[in-house]
Amino acid sequence: MYDLIIIGGGPAGLAAGLYACRAGLKTVLLERGIPGGQIALTGVVENYPGIESISGIGLAEAMQKHAEKYGLQIEYFTVEKVDFSKKVKWVCNDYGTDFEAKAVILATGADHARLNVPGEEEFAGRGVSYCAVCDGAFFRDKHVAVIGGGDSAIDEGLYLTRTASKVTVIHRRDQLRAEKILQQRAFANPKMEFIWDTVVERFNGDDQLKTLSLRNVKTNERREFPVDGVFVYVGLTPNTAFLKGAVAMDEWGYVPTNEKMETNVPGVYAVGDIRPNTLRQVVTAAADGAIAAIQAEKYITAEWGHE
Ligand code: NAP
Repeated sequence: MYDLIIIGGGPAGLAAGLYACRAGLKTVLLERGIPGGQIALTGVVENYPGIESISGIGLAEAMQKHAEKYGLQIEYFTVEKVDFSKKVKWVCNDYGTDFEAKAVILATGADHARLNVPGEEEFAGRGVSYCAVCDGAFFRDKHVAVIGGGDSAIDEGLYLTRTASKVTVIHRRDQLRAEKILQQRAFANPKMEFIWDTVVERFNGDDQLKTLSLRNVKTNERREFPVDGVFVYVGLTPNTAFLKGAVAMDEWGYVPTNEKMETNVPGVYAVGDIRPNTLRQVVTAAADGAIAAIQAEKYITAEWGHE
């Protein structure tokens, strides 16, 4: 049995692993894909204190190496079932392989949300993408659209201007949600243009995406907008479906915690993007992970003594 299971290997989970191992806990981190979470899909990170600029994947690898140096065990494993109702916490995959521990940190993060309009699924990978870093190169010297007005939309839109000939941001309001510095860069970029108060109602094409059906939400005017590709950045959905019934969640599937990262179940903590109403940055995710690991160590000592 482990002292601690960490589910999810983004910055929150990797930071928790680092702090837990340094606190002497026998810790396994379970990750379904590649460690790094969303930063592994982010081009450049330039707001992690002390590091002016680093590739997302570079930061993810550095975090992984750092935690492994202190003994973190990482297993490539998709958690499908959990039982947190007993003192020993249990997690299992679809093949019946399981892990047990005295405490658990949930760090499964969030995935990019879908627009859920006709054609979106049909043209996914054929013009519709959710990752500029992964797919931007396919649209060299082409015209692409970005949907959304948050940090992701503007950050990734700016990234796309490096290769695309034009990047049109289509936003449902007349003001961006993105942080001011990103807005300033976007407005100053000659390759970026904006369509305000507008939503996408349908993705159209044949074997490839060709046009977007747009509607102005103020005037109700509709039009067809030709594009070569579109990148959808309309927010996040927490990866918590497998936790249903095991910990308390809010109506959107986020896991509420107190400032110690404690969920409603003793010995179970939640960190990073699966918590509601947090600033969703690498630095806050890492801080959550550190807090939860130290709290888990205190909990284990109190409940189990020095076994
Ligand atoms: P977000 O901040 O929730 O923004 C989502 C955007 O999509 C909003 O502009 C929203 O419009 C729009 N939207 C939502 N549903 C829509 C729909 N059905 N149709 C059209 N538009 C829709 O999400 P995010 O940009 O992915 O960012 C998530 C978190 O990661 C944020 O906390 C962000 O700060 C963080 N992040 C930070 C960085 C960075 O620091 N460089 C980079 C990426 C992400 P409204 O504005 O009208 O609500």
